[in-house]
Amino acid sequence: MCLDLPCGHIGHNQLNRRQLLAGLASASALAGTAGCVATNAASGRDSFTGLQSIKDDIAEGRANHPKILKSFGGAYEDRRLAGYVQNIGLNLAKGTEYQQYPYRFTILNTQIVNAFALPGGFVYITRGLLALASSEAELAGVLSHELAHVTARHGAERRGAQQIAQLGLLLGAVGLQAAGLPSDLMQIGQTAAMAAIKGYSREHEFEADTLGVRYMSRAGYNVDAMVSFLGSLREHSMVEAQVLGLPRGKVDEFNIMSTHPRTVERVKQAQIQAQAAASGGGSGRWRRDEYLNHLDGMLFGDDPKQGVIRGQKFIHPDLRFEFQAPAGFHLRNSPARVEARHISGAAMIFDMAPSKGASTAAAYLRHVWAAKTQLHDLENIVVDGLQAATGWAEGRGQNGPVHMRALAIRQDRGRFYRFMYVSPLNQAGRWARPFRQSGLSFRRIGERAAANVRAQRLLVVPARPDDNIAGLARTLPYGQYNESWFRVLNDLAPKQPIRKDQRLKVIAG
Ligand SMILES: [Zn+2]
Repeated sequence: MCLDLPCGHIGHNQLNRRQLLAGLASASALAGTAGCVATNAASGRDSFTGLQSIKDDIAEGRANHPKILKSFGGAYEDRRLAGYVQNIGLNLAKGTEYQQYPYRFTILNTQIVNAFALPGGFVYITRGLLALASSEAELAGVLSHELAHVTARHGAERRGAQQIAQLGLLLGAVGLQAAGLPSDLMQIGQTAAMAAIKGYSREHEFEADTLGVRYMSRAGYNVDAMVSFLGSLREHSMVEAQVLGLPRGKVDEFNIMSTHPRTVERVKQAQIQAQAAASGGGSGRWRRDEYLNHLDGMLFGDDPKQGVIRGQKFIHPDLRFEFQAPAGFHLRNSPARVEARHISGAAMIFDMAPSKGASTAAAYLRHVWAAKTQLHDLENIVVDGLQAATGWAEGRGQNGPVHMRALAIRQDRGRFYRFMYVSPLNQAGRWARPFRQSGLSFRRIGERAAANVRAQRLLVVPARPDDNIAGLARTLPYGQYNESWFRVLNDLAPKQPIRKDQRLKVIAG
C-alpha cells in the first residue's frame, strides 16, 4: 500500500500523510476518486499508481513470473549466458533510483523477438532478441528500457488507471483475431501475465527510453546503441512480416515492436533529452567481442523440445507426431499452438486440448469444442489409425464472414489434437482440398525420425575473403528470405558487402 510509503514522497497536490491516516476509514472512497498520487523518484512525475505499493509490485511480479515462463517456453538453460545477462542487468539496476526491487533477468527459451518486464523488477529477454543484438551495449539498451518500465512503475500506473480491464489485448485472443478467427470457438484462456506485458502508451515508451539512456550511460555504455538496435529490430520486423505472410509493415503481435511501440525519431529525442540532463553522451563502451563470445553456440530457432518447423512441416520429436501445412502457408510455433497463415487471409491453427469427458471425437467436437457453434456435416473419420471427427461452421472474422473447418483427432490419453482451418467464406471452395490434405497428413513418428530432428545453433565465425552472403545464409530456415534475415542478423544493409574484419553470426545444423 502506498501508505507504507516506500513508493516515494506524497505529492504536493495530495493530502498530507496525517490526513491520509486519519482518512483511512474512507480509504476505499479515496481510491475511487483520487487514488494514491506519489512522486516517482525515477520519472520525477506525480504518478497515479492506485493503491499499489512497491511491495505489491514485487508480489505481482512473483505471482506472474511462473506464468510468463510457461507462456514463453521456459527459461533458456545456459548458465554462462544467463549469468552474463544477469550481471549486465544487475550492474544497470545499480544506477536506478530504486534499489528495493529484487531485480532478476531471465532469458526466455523462444525465437520470438521480445523483451518485457513485470512490476517488481522481473525483466525478460528472449533468445530471439539476443540473436539479433550485436553488442553488449545494445543488450544493455534493451535491459535499461525494461528497467525503466519497472522503476517508473508503468505497470502499476496502468493498473491504477484501470486500463487492464479495457485492454482486452490478451495474447492468445489477439493472435486469433489476427488470423480472422472468432474466439468463442477457440475457447481462449486468458491470463493476467499476458495482460501485464501488453500495451504501453507512447508517453510511457518515451519515458522508458529517456530513463533507459540515463541508466546505460551511468553504467558506461555508449547510448547510441539504443538507436542502432532499434534500427535492427525494425529491419527484423520487416523481414519477419514477409516470412509470416503479413502485409508489409504490419507487426506481429508477439513482436517487441508491438509491445513497445517506438520509433527511431522518438528514441533519438529521448537520447537528446537524457543527455542534456546528464551533460554527457556520445562516448562509452560497446563491448562487441565480449557479447559475440557469449552468444557463440546459442540455440537458434525452435527448441526441438517444443517442436520444430521444417519447410511446410511441423515435427514434434518429444510428442512424436508431425503434419504438413498447405503449400504457401507460413508456419509459426509457440508454446500454446502452431499457427500458419496464407497471404490470402486463410489460416490454420493446431493445438492440443483435454477431452473434458468426451469419449468420442464426434462428441468432443459437438459438445465441447464447438458447443456454442452451429456445426455442419459432422463426420467420423480415421487419421493415422486414430479416431477423428470433422465438421464445418460459418463465423465472423475480422474482415467479414469466414468458413471454419474443425478436425479433432483422439490421442490415447484423454486428449485431442485439434486442427482449425479458416478461410474467407468466398474462398472456401479453393481451400477445401488443401485443408483436407493437411489434416490427413497428421501422423505419429517413431524413435528414429524423432532422433533425426536436431537443434540449430548460432555460431560466431570470422569473415573469410571468399565468403558470399547467399552461401552463408543457406542454413537459415526462412527459405527465400534467408539472405534478408542473414543481413539483419549481421547488421548488413541491403547490398552492403561483408566487412573484412567482421565476425559473422551463422546458423549451423
Ligand atoms: Zn517499452
